[in-house]
Amino acid sequence: MSEADVSATHVRSGEIGVYVHVPFCERLCPYCDFAVSVQREIPHEAYVARVAAELNARAGEFEGYEAVTLYVGGGTPSLLSGEALGALFEAVRDVVSVQKGAEVTLEANPNQLSAASLETWRALGVERLSVGCQSFQDAQLKALRRNHSATQAIEGVERALEVMERVSLDLMFGVPDQTMAAWEADLAIMQRLVEEQGLDHVSAYNLTVEPGTAFWIRRKRGSLHLPDEDASAAFLERLVECTAEVGLWRYEVSNFAVPGGESRHNSGYWLRRPYVGVGVGAHSLRVAADGRSWRRANARKYASYMSQNDPGAPESEEALSARESFAEHLFLGARSRLGLDLSGLFERYAGVLSEADKVRVGEAINGLATLGLLERPEGSPHLWRPTLRGLDLGDTVAERLYLAATPDAH
Ligand code: SF4
Repeated sequence: MSEADVSATHVRSGEIGVYVHVPFCERLCPYCDFAVSVQREIPHEAYVARVAAELNARAGEFEGYEAVTLYVGGGTPSLLSGEALGALFEAVRDVVSVQKGAEVTLEANPNQLSAASLETWRALGVERLSVGCQSFQDAQLKALRRNHSATQAIEGVERALEVMERVSLDLMFGVPDQTMAAWEADLAIMQRLVEEQGLDHVSAYNLTVEPGTAFWIRRKRGSLHLPDEDASAAFLERLVECTAEVGLWRYEVSNFAVPGGESRHNSGYWLRRPYVGVGVGAHSLRVAADGRSWRRANARKYASYMSQNDPGAPESEEALSARESFAEHLFLGARSRLGLDLSGLFERYAGVLSEADKVRVGEAINGLATLGLLERPEGSPHLWRPTLRGLDLGDTVAERLYLAATPDAH
């Protein structure tokens, strides 16, 4: 399997990612823990106006930056009308210069992929569609209470591949009553879409049961039958094999792409590129030249977001010292295979790192490499990245690096 030259995903100063959250959904999926609002009538204009007000109130955060990615996620952003989506893009472009050739992604539900909608999105500048299929089996879709059928999912992705430059597919495993045969059938369709129709990206997640969800309650009552840990491990193993067979490389725990097809937006999170998230529940990361950083989160409840006095005010904010930021950089680096530029990091955080710090972090990295958990990618000898085994043991790798970076905190 060939792998990407990931240098294209690496962060240059002055670059920023922009995320817009659209919280609307037709109904609430029983496993969903996202910031979601289910309403009979979607307030397209009112919501876009509120996001525009937030963008204006936070315009200062974009000064000196150019957006290299614009990601509209949710929720179900494909529920927005074409006019509303156009107005949203305009509101973003009013406050930040969006780089020519920026990656512009829209998340979409398979039951909303009509030829007319796809053409509208394309005309608005969307070049990448992320389609939340989860499965191509009606039994699994029913178990997840998704509002689309297997046929809609397959035909929708096929139509999207005809119109969009790039399409990403979301799949889920570890779903109630799922068998290996059903998962293999999903993977076979995924392989056909890659080989015959140019699908370039797959995100595949093991279902997790989050507190407060309908699945959480059903599991407590004993009426939710999920595949056990061994079965989930076997599903993951087949996923890794089947994606590799069709030339997708695993560049992050749950993400697989043809070389060059990686999500630049999500890569920015793992590489700690600054990003501004607007809309209900959106998160942002601001980074200062001296290494300090700030994370903020918007109001998670739709009504609070829409009615707060200052449209640019966060619900919560957290300041990270330069050392904490450095530790987080290492921590995130252990979870993706895009590679950590250690000497670049030492330079960037020179103001807070002593020689002893650098030696300790270097030793931790060498120790993990000796265990076969970190490696230097071929052709990029200045980078470190987890091996595939290191990716599976990502928590251990990340924790060791974090501890090496913050010795006084423990
Ligand atoms: S469609 Fe996605 S965001 Fe909406 S309820 Fe279902 S899982 Fe949550």
